[in-house]
Amino acid sequence: MDNPMTETRLFGTNGIRGVVNKDLTPEFALKVGTAIGTFMKGTVAVASDTRASGDMIRSAVFAGLMYTGCNILDLGVVPTPVLQYFVKTHPETAGGVMITASHNPPQFNGIKCISSDGTEMARSDEEKIEGIFFKGHPETSDAKPGTVEKIRGAAETYIDAIISKVDASAIRHAGLKAVLDCANGAAFFTTPLLLKKLNVKATTLNADPQGEFPGHPSEPTEENLKDLIGLMGTSDADLGIAHDGDADRTVFVAGGGGYVSGDKTLALIARSELKKRKGVIVTPVASSSLVEEVVKDAGGKVLYTAVGSPVVARAMISAGAVFGGEENGGLIFPEMQYCRDGAMAVAKMLESIVKHGPLAQQILTLPVYHTHKLKIDCPECKKKALLKALSGKCGAGRKDETDGLKIIFEDGWVLIRPSGTEPIFRVYSESKDNAVAKKRGEEFIASAKECLKII
Ligand code: MG
Repeated sequence: MDNPMTETRLFGTNGIRGVVNKDLTPEFALKVGTAIGTFMKGTVAVASDTRASGDMIRSAVFAGLMYTGCNILDLGVVPTPVLQYFVKTHPETAGGVMITASHNPPQFNGIKCISSDGTEMARSDEEKIEGIFFKGHPETSDAKPGTVEKIRGAAETYIDAIISKVDASAIRHAGLKAVLDCANGAAFFTTPLLLKKLNVKATTLNADPQGEFPGHPSEPTEENLKDLIGLMGTSDADLGIAHDGDADRTVFVAGGGGYVSGDKTLALIARSELKKRKGVIVTPVASSSLVEEVVKDAGGKVLYTAVGSPVVARAMISAGAVFGGEENGGLIFPEMQYCRDGAMAVAKMLESIVKHGPLAQQILTLPVYHTHKLKIDCPECKKKALLKALSGKCGAGRKDETDGLKIIFEDGWVLIRPSGTEPIFRVYSESKDNAVAKKRGEEFIASAKECLKII
């Protein structure tokens, strides 16, 4: 679980996360709000997802921000990318705060900071907020208390911006059908509105903001989306769509009921985007070589980064990339904004179906790779030593240390990455030959276990 709160650190890879009224109490949220307000010093846009604890945590953050003199623009319950787009397009805002725990179970909530350009806050700025937080909460403030202004229409503006970035007329004429699972999360209003405006006939599942969040186990994986996959198998819908709780990520199901892995989505959207404009596609080292093979065939180039959407987004900005994203359904489209954007991913997939044929058929054109995802227990104190020991055992492989250790062979690769939040290493082994991927993964785990005995 993404909950790294310690005595010197608050923010994990996706903001602050914790169990409500245990780690994440109103008093704690108030102090975090005060620290954020002291750092941002200005007008701050705030939004939340549909979690039952959202009002309580948001109110505490509001109080902290206003205590330090910040004026608040309250967007209410909207997806994270709506808040990010609002901040990006309103230069008068000093930043944003999103109250969300994304795909975590309902007992969790979280606080995530957005920079004034709408991107996820860089670690260096989070450290400044942590510095203010751990200095202690001032008992008095000289600031004139801030105000709250309710903002209406941010979601509609965001959806209209998305529609302007795709061939809306072609999508409208195609008369597509979709089944949409919002996990009772923040997309309950935005994605149905997008589909309606694009003349896509939609059947919705878990699209009730008052419903039991998230409507099914929270991570949008194949196992957790049985209802959506089942409905896609028995209906004539062209596209199945599932979001996580704050709708920055999207996972797709093809007509007929085939779950589409995030790697395949990345490859297909990359190919579709490269047909419009040649250039660089950015993705972390954990993504399948499927993406690289498809991108090369389409005349593009892959730039690999460490895992984490802020890293991908920043690399995309520096490289002037055409598209980028992660294999967990987080897709970033530079013409809209430099962050994961769930509804934009939906619009682009609809456009791809209209231009390049049914999703199930497009998938058949992709090369097949086999990836084995394993893990190995390793105490925190031995993580560095294990990586060092393994990096001396690359054999015939080429070493890449962008994130953890990736060893690239002629017929596949192995990646070992320390988890930032658990005492484990994640081990991925991939090849076009399933037997090779399986054997290499097992051998690598055995070798790591041997190393652990002596370090
Ligand atoms: Mg999310």
